[in-house]
Amino acid sequence: MALIVQKFGGSSVGNPDRIKNVAARVAKYRAQGDQVVVVVSAMSGVTDNLIRMAKELMPLPSEREMDMLLATGEQTTIALTAIALHAIGIAAVSMTGAQAGIVTNGVHTKAKIQNITPKQVHELLDAGNVVIVAGFQGQTQEGQITTLGRGGSDLTAIALAAALSADLCQVYTDVDGVYTADPRIVPTAKKLPEISYDEMLELASLGAKVMQSRSVEFAKKFGVVFEVRSSLNDNPGTIVKEETASMEDVVIRGVSLDKNQAKVTLIGVPDKPGVAARIFKALGEAAISVDMIVQNVSHGSGSPSTDLSFTVDKPDLLKTNKVIDSLRIEIGFQAVASDEKIGKLSIVGVGMRSHSGVAAKMFETLAQNGINIDMISTSEIKISVVIDLAKGEQAMRAIHQAFIG
Ligand code: ADP
Ligand code: ASP
Ligand code: MG
Repeated sequence: MALIVQKFGGSSVGNPDRIKNVAARVAKYRAQGDQVVVVVSAMSGVTDNLIRMAKELMPLPSEREMDMLLATGEQTTIALTAIALHAIGIAAVSMTGAQAGIVTNGVHTKAKIQNITPKQVHELLDAGNVVIVAGFQGQTQEGQITTLGRGGSDLTAIALAAALSADLCQVYTDVDGVYTADPRIVPTAKKLPEISYDEMLELASLGAKVMQSRSVEFAKKFGVVFEVRSSLNDNPGTIVKEETASMEDVVIRGVSLDKNQAKVTLIGVPDKPGVAARIFKALGEAAISVDMIVQNVSHGSGSPSTDLSFTVDKPDLLKTNKVIDSLRIEIGFQAVASDEKIGKLSIVGVGMRSHSGVAAKMFETLAQNGINIDMISTSEIKISVVIDLAKGEQAMRAIHQAFIG
C-alpha cells in the first residue's frame, strides 16, 4: 500500500466529464489499496475570469479580497470531485487549504507556505477516504485566506507530498510530460523521460508554465521526486529529480520563451558610484524583482553618463515606472523608456557546464534567421537573450531545430 498525491490541473477538471475521468483514475489506485490525496485546481479559465470581473470593478483591487475571491475557484472543484467519487461508490472528503493544515505568511496573492500540519488529512485517509484538497490556497496563522501565486496548485501538491512523506507525487496535466519546448509552439518538441530539478526550475522560471517555478524550488529543497503526466492517457510522463551523472551528456535539455517581461531603459544616468545601488534598492523595496540588467559604456565628455536597461515582469511595469519617477530628481537621469514587446528566449541544460561553443551556436542561429539580440544573460546552466516579441516563436523553433532537432 502506497500513499500517493495526485494533482489535477485546470483542464483536467475543466468539465463534469473530465472530473469523472479523474474519479475513475483515482478509483484505480484505490482498488490497488493505495491511499490517495487529490489536489485540484480551479476549472480552466475560472481563475482568469474571476480576476477579470474584479478588475472591471477596480483596476487595483484589494489583495485580501482577491484571495477571498480566487479561493472560490478551487473550492468548487474539490466538492465536485468528491461528489464524482461518491457517485462511483468511493468514500471521499473535500478540504480547503486551511482544513488541510496549510499555513502561510500574510502576503496576499503570493503567500509562502510556512508549515503544514496535515493531522486531519491523515485521520481521514486512515478512515478509508480519498482526501481532496483545494490547490493554490492556504490560511495565515490569524485565519486569513491566502493564495500561493498563479499556478500554485502545483505547490500545494508538492508541499503536501513532502509533509505527508508520500511515496509518489504525480502532477496530471494536458500534455504527456515536460517537453524540450512548449509543444504548442514547437511541434517537433520531444517528451523528456527525466529532467533535473535545476533544469526544470530554470525552464519554469523562464516561461515554461507546465510547472509553477516555486513548486519546483520546494521539491528540490525537500527532495520530492515527482512525475508530470497526462490526465488523458496512461503514457509514462517525465520524472523530475536530483541530477544524475549521465544528465550532463545532453547539452541542451530544453528551450523556453517568456513573453511576460518588459524592458525599462534609463537614458543619461550619471556615471558615478552608488547610482545603480540606489535604483535597484528602491525597486527591491517595492517588491519588484528585476531580471536582466545591462549598463552601456559611458559616453559624453564633462560629466559622464550611461544608459541602464533592465527587465521586470510585465504586471510590475506600472509600479516600476512609479518608483523610477520618484528617483528622477535625486538621480538626475534624462529620460525613461519602456518596451513591452520583448520576448526572453532561453536554452537550459546542465550539459552546458562541460560543453563549449553553446552561446556561439545560439547567437549564430539567431543571426542566420535575421533576429537581433537586445540583451544577454547567462548562468552555469542557461543562456537567455531578449529579442523582439514578434519574432519570439520563430526564434524558438529555429533554436530548437539547431540544438535538439
Ligand atoms: P495545468 O492546468 O494542468 O496546471 P498548465 O496550463 O499550467 O496546466 O500547464 C500545461 C501547459 O504548459 C501545456 O499545455 C503546454 O502548452 C505548456 N508548456 C509550456 N512549456 C512546456 C514544456 N516545456 N513542456 C510541456 N508543456 C509546456
Ligand atoms: N487556479 C490557479 C491559477 O489558475 C492555480 C492553479 O491552476 O494552479 O493560477
Ligand atoms: Mg499549471
